Amino acid sequence: MKPLVHKPSDLMDLHTHTTFSDGSETPETLIDMAFERGLTVVAITDHDSISGLEHAEKQATKRGIRLVRGIEFSADYGEISVHIVGLGIKKPDEIFIEMLQKIGKGRASRNPQIVQKLNELGFDITLEEIRNIAAGDIISRPHIAEALVRNGYVENTNEAFKKYLNRGRPAYQERYRPTVSEATAMIKHMGGIPILAHPGLIRFPFETMESHISRLKSMGIEGLETHYPVHTPAMRQEFSRIAKKLRLLESGGSDFHGVFKPNPIGLGTDREPILGSFLRPLLERLNIPISASMNTA
Ligand code: AMP
Ligand code: MN
Ligand code: MN
Ligand code: MN
Repeated sequence: MKPLVHKPSDLMDLHTHTTFSDGSETPETLIDMAFERGLTVVAITDHDSISGLEHAEKQATKRGIRLVRGIEFSADYGEISVHIVGLGIKKPDEIFIEMLQKIGKGRASRNPQIVQKLNELGFDITLEEIRNIAAGDIISRPHIAEALVRNGYVENTNEAFKKYLNRGRPAYQERYRPTVSEATAMIKHMGGIPILAHPGLIRFPFETMESHISRLKSMGIEGLETHYPVHTPAMRQEFSRIAKKLRLLESGGSDFHGVFKPNPIGLGTDREPILGSFLRPLLERLNIPISASMNTA
């Protein structure tokens, strides 16, 4: 077993996906991969689902890894959708399950509509095929993108999004999403910390970023995911500045999805490792002890 107190030099990852949403690896395999790479703290943050957490917990105990129970919601912020990662989620109660079911129903009615649009565009793909790719309960656009790849209609999933599945493209279909205030309130109700995920992927004009993040804080956001693969070092620095100024906790994650995205587990901006020392204030809030000095074991 790993020591209960983590070291500042420990490798960590607070944003990953499994087969319970749109990742390609099971929770058990993801924990094994994290173990092989020497990570000691891992959050699983499947979209709209906590069903993978129990599986992950068992494997994490075996491997001596500290699992952070997480989730990721897409939430409406005016006209745009932002992603919120919730970290430190307790076992669900009825209110939480109801919300997940409402989001699930929204997906279930959206997916056949996307398939119909793709069929009308001349692509011969079926919901059945997509269900098989998804394996779990959550069917999301990366699974649909993968079906387009497997049938040879596009080269890769990114092309599928760009040409057909993104908002504004011909096979896009809206679905129900909670508002930012609803999502953060629900995460807090579950004892969790709401973190604004990958702010660099939100299409705010750069000069308005700080005021948007400030508004999002007033809607319940408590942290900012600054250390993230597609953030450039300059973006990461700017987000860190904003986080410090607005007193938001900094988080870091790879957004690992296995084969559905190229992000390796445990690495953030510039493929740099995500270290315990960087996550210290957030880990304290999550009651994950970390030793004071770089040198202590
Ligand atoms: P959904 O929740 O079903 O609308 O699907 C949204 C998910 O699609 C996001 O959480 C991303 O993980 C994924 N996604 C968005 N854009 C891309 C892209 N260009 N390539 C691969 N995955 C993407
Ligand atoms: Mn995803
Ligand atoms: Mn996301
Ligand atoms: Mn994600």
